[in-house]
Amino acid sequence: MRIKFGHAIQKFLLPILLVIVFSLLGLGVYAYKLKLQYFFLFFGMGIMVALGECIIILFPKRKQLFRRIIQGLVGGGLFFGISINFRVNFQFSEVIFDIMALIITGALIQFIIARLIMPFIVGNAFCSRVCWDGAIFELTQNLLPKLKIIKNRSRYIASAYLLFIIILTIFVSRYENPALNEDSRFYWIIGENIFLLSIGFIISSIWGRRAYCRMFCPFITISGLFSRFSIFKITPVNSDNCVECKKCDRACPMLVNVSGFVKNKKRINDRNCILCEQCVSACNNECIKLAPGLPWQ
Ligand code: SF4
Ligand code: SF4
Ligand code: SF4
Repeated sequence: MRIKFGHAIQKFLLPILLVIVFSLLGLGVYAYKLKLQYFFLFFGMGIMVALGECIIILFPKRKQLFRRIIQGLVGGGLFFGISINFRVNFQFSEVIFDIMALIITGALIQFIIARLIMPFIVGNAFCSRVCWDGAIFELTQNLLPKLKIIKNRSRYIASAYLLFIIILTIFVSRYENPALNEDSRFYWIIGENIFLLSIGFIISSIWGRRAYCRMFCPFITISGLFSRFSIFKITPVNSDNCVECKKCDRACPMLVNVSGFVKNKKRINDRNCILCEQCVSACNNECIKLAPGLPWQ
């Protein structure tokens, strides 16, 4: 009985952790805003993500379908339910706006928890489970023209873009800081999201699917610094079964050299990995799976 319970905990460890992390996120926002609705919003979001994760675990053959549906629902809920409805800017610009205004908003708290703390547990899984931009990029990737050049991440381009966003937002905040004005924040949220999606579509049609995520997104530039120490990683479980077909590499939207890690019997600690498990779904020999382990491995 104890073994069965332990097995169930191990199997559903990720959804359990997600509920805990989202609840902490809600508590953090509640502590700042003193409005209980924020706690319930984040708690509800955590329950949704965790339930989705349970469905993914229970139906491994439909993993990608369910993951995309869940990301669309959670991301859509976050954008329309919280971002637009309560005028909370979840994009990176708000981090700088908050710092410039010397205030702490829910957006800054969510950045700290989702991008600085969660990566130590679930890496960049926010990008494959929650982010609405990522959901739109993924759901529309088949509409894009066939790729011409598939471009890998450049640390210099990513860092330069991060610097550009910081300088731009500091410049804007000197004239009108959206962190201090709900109306301008609302227009900033709309404008920034349209801008990001447009950039994403344009470069994805040149440099391959999720090119914005891979090449530019400041969030992954930052969370990728910590995700290599994540407890959950894609883990080789049957390396000896690997036939080096490289289907996992071709399935990876972030261009991670999955088969190389499998060959070396190493957990995937690539800072670009978003734990989407497309490599897991692509492998017919069940060589890899998403599993917990020691953070430094
Ligand atoms: S990399 Fe950025 S845009 Fe892409 S899914 Fe992650 S947070 Fe969203
Ligand atoms: S898809 Fe599986 S068998 Fe093929 S290279 Fe990747 S890990 Fe090996
Ligand atoms: S390595 Fe696997 S889990 Fe990580 S981004 Fe690539 S396909 Fe997704």
